[in-house]
Amino acid sequence: MAGNIASVLIVGGGTAGWMVAAALGHKLSGTGIAVTLVESEAIGTVGVGEATVPHIRAFNQALGFDEAAFMAATNATFKLGIEFRNWGRIGDSYIHPFGAFGQPIGGVDFHHQWIALRRSGRAEPFDHYSLPVAMARANRFAHPAADPASLASTYGYAYQFDASLYARFLRAQAEAKGVTRLEGRVVDVTQDERGHVSAVTLDDGRRLSADLFVDCSGFRGLLIEGALASGYDEWTHWLPCDRAWAVPCANVGPIGPYTRATALHAGWAWRIPLQHRAGNGHVFASGFTDEQAALDRLLGQLDAAPLAEPRQLRFTAGKRRRQWIGNTVAIGLAAGFLEPLESTSIHLIQLGIERLLDLFPTADWDPLDAAEFNRLMDLEYERVRDFIILHYAATQRDDTPFWNHVRTMSLPDSLATKMALWRARGVVVNYRQGMFLEPSWLAVYLGQNIVPDGIDPRAGAGAADAAAMLRNIASTVERLPTHESVLPRTLEAAA
Ligand code: FAD
Repeated sequence: MAGNIASVLIVGGGTAGWMVAAALGHKLSGTGIAVTLVESEAIGTVGVGEATVPHIRAFNQALGFDEAAFMAATNATFKLGIEFRNWGRIGDSYIHPFGAFGQPIGGVDFHHQWIALRRSGRAEPFDHYSLPVAMARANRFAHPAADPASLASTYGYAYQFDASLYARFLRAQAEAKGVTRLEGRVVDVTQDERGHVSAVTLDDGRRLSADLFVDCSGFRGLLIEGALASGYDEWTHWLPCDRAWAVPCANVGPIGPYTRATALHAGWAWRIPLQHRAGNGHVFASGFTDEQAALDRLLGQLDAAPLAEPRQLRFTAGKRRRQWIGNTVAIGLAAGFLEPLESTSIHLIQLGIERLLDLFPTADWDPLDAAEFNRLMDLEYERVRDFIILHYAATQRDDTPFWNHVRTMSLPDSLATKMALWRARGVVVNYRQGMFLEPSWLAVYLGQNIVPDGIDPRAGAGAADAAAMLRNIASTVERLPTHESVLPRTLEAAA
């Protein structure tokens, strides 16, 4: 039987590098496998990943983090979902919540009953039948109830946090578990006769060798692309946005427990409320608008004056052809990029870490490990890609060349099939895998006015039950505390 590998070198100390370091430190502590991270302060990090999805709670819990301590350290707020403004049509607004819509009525799925009610003019907007949506709109928050019979158990939540502070928090955890941090700029990568990476060389001449290399070097993909030439599957024909402006401003009014994504002329803008400020940015397609106009649009819709100079970031939607090659695994921006419309990048980092731990290599380097890792990660990236494309494909906007392009573009077969089944009969049973399950797809379809032609023939007698649901949601929300009153804060922030 092959023995353990002896050492891991993580290249890069952004959110990805420190998430990997904290997870490996936790998992490998006591095994004798040495974990080292090298990063370059001069190069810095992207540092803009601020909104997350609920799965991050499982990551934090597995590492034993205390929620209140983590939230105070990262100026975090709770997140119940994302509000989408102007996506279906200008003036529309809906929230994609982390939770269910309604409950089945008479054994018929709620969305079929809702469409029947809508046809008879008796339905409220679909997202009104969701407790987390009502909580978000009322700026209320409480942890979900444990009793599965309670309405208050029908939602999840995530966090909005300062990504640089999260990396700092993770670093402390990783170092406490024995991870060694080195400062330095990698200038060269050496490979052995098998093509495995054997060492990296730093600008001061130090040579760092290891058995396993984790490439967390960001967009450049220093090892996976620079040395190993993985290649890149580019998805810009479906996701033409390729740049972003980012700028913080002060919070104005109550701190909302949700992220906002507002569709603009040739892209969209995010607003992410943290405890101490709001993060803002505008993701745009440089083929459809110029940079200055995009910046003006972002500045024109801030809630308050900018707190810093706007920063520009450039990217290409897609993923590396192979994220694990030989003894090198890419995680984070080094592995691929999908625009942050559904806050998925940090989750893709988490998935990469989980798969790496599941398939952790032994000294014989079974090629099946890499093949399976790549198959699973390809699937996850493609699922997220399709869900993000849906937001564009499901628009009715025809007011700019950008919206005309995305409304009429051809779609990946995987998404086209899903949308055809939905339009025909409201089918969502094929949505039970991956990170976005049925309620997420329902939120976008019905929030953006894509209503199926046919529904379950049994639907139609749900008016009284649906009205009772709305009353139950309203009375539950009324009893909840405000979001701000339950935020765990640092002592200075609370003073
Ligand atoms: P980086 O932050 O780029 O870190 C790379 C690291 O590698 C740095 O430490 C750098 O110093 C080091 N490095 C690079 N080259 C060398 C070298 N030669 N030698 C030594 N070290 C080196 N994600 C979300 O989940 N939610 C969001 O809301 C979200 N919003 C985003 C908005 C925008 C506009 C963008 C671009 C991304 C967003 N993301 C979001 C993605 C998120 O920012 C990243 O997934 C996350 O920050 C991880 O980045 P990273 O660690 O892979 O790369």
